[in-house]
Amino acid sequence: MFYSLAAEYVQQLSPYQPGKPIDELERELGISEIVKLASNENPLGPSPLATEAVNQALQQLARYPDGNGFNLKQVLAAKLMLDTDQITLGNGSNELLELIARAFLTPEHEVIFSQHAFAVYPIVTQAVGATARIAPASDGSKWPRWGHDLDALASLVSPKTRVVFIANPNNPTGTYLPNIDLEQFISALPKKTLCVIDEAYFEYVDQPDYPDATLWLDKFPNLIVTRTFSKAYGLAGLRIGYALSNPEIADLLNRVRQPFNNNHLALVAAENAIVDTEHLAKSVSINQQGYKQLAGFVMNLQLEWIPSVANFITINFKREAMPIYQGLLQRGVIVRPVANYEMPDFLRVSIGTLEENQLFMKALTDTLADV
Ligand SMILES: *Cc1c(COP(=O)(O)O)cnc(C)c1O
Repeated sequence: MFYSLAAEYVQQLSPYQPGKPIDELERELGISEIVKLASNENPLGPSPLATEAVNQALQQLARYPDGNGFNLKQVLAAKLMLDTDQITLGNGSNELLELIARAFLTPEHEVIFSQHAFAVYPIVTQAVGATARIAPASDGSKWPRWGHDLDALASLVSPKTRVVFIANPNNPTGTYLPNIDLEQFISALPKKTLCVIDEAYFEYVDQPDYPDATLWLDKFPNLIVTRTFSKAYGLAGLRIGYALSNPEIADLLNRVRQPFNNNHLALVAAENAIVDTEHLAKSVSINQQGYKQLAGFVMNLQLEWIPSVANFITINFKREAMPIYQGLLQRGVIVRPVANYEMPDFLRVSIGTLEENQLFMKALTDTLADV
């Protein structure tokens, strides 16, 4: 009965499907040595500076957090050479995507994103009754196969288009769009169309033609860049991310957010994590080694994968991948099925420590002998 009371677009929503939690598989299998390579977390965890600061901050739990995130904004502004009034902090960058939708979208508006793009874009769009227009993925001729096709995205732009979401690199494909092409795309958008460049995996990317979209903020007032502490900074459990934009956009996002959307521990952890460049460099280096290890293995199996610049690798089994996912689960390894991204033949595997990758490789070899 209550279903019918919700707005029709809410009734038709499908909830986000997270990676399977370790505890859940432990309960199901009754074993304790689980390897989780399902949510693109940093296998090294956060900087020890962040953990230490969180320990200290446990003394202050009775107090409300700083609702304006003064300290973190100072550190971010200095690092990015932006003004603090260009920064919006969010409970994960997911929250920022939601705030953008809440601030700018109504049922009259359209939102554009790509096929196989991050699953949160359709959810935040539909949750406010706006209409999603989905561009087909690239066929591989101009941009990487399975990734974004900028021409297809541009062809959907109309006077109703209020927001374009682009993940660069994209999840779950690991593909990226190069500097010149992306800059041209944004400059050709109508000034009233906001372009959100989601850089959740920014810190991992090492390609010379990969753009840092924050450098375009002066040039494109309709640009919003989102980043997160959940991936390379290893703080997924605390939920903290940030958006960088024109101050007017930041002011609007600030109006629709909860007063204390970022908790004290998350703020303190992020402030300390961001200065530990050594830990970040180590995390990126482990990831590069792991990528080589996994790509080499996948090649030996004569399977295809989508070349990735992020901290995961998406493998094409060229047959229904669900039985393989199940076989891996039975062997204590959690990866991510991506059938909900219209990629039923693929599994997305987060890059772990070299040992975790080894355990995955063993489990996959055993599974493939079996199914
Ligand atoms: C993981 C991810 C996010 C980050 O989510 P948080 O809410 O910051 O944890 C955002 N965008 C993409 C494309 C992602 O893969």
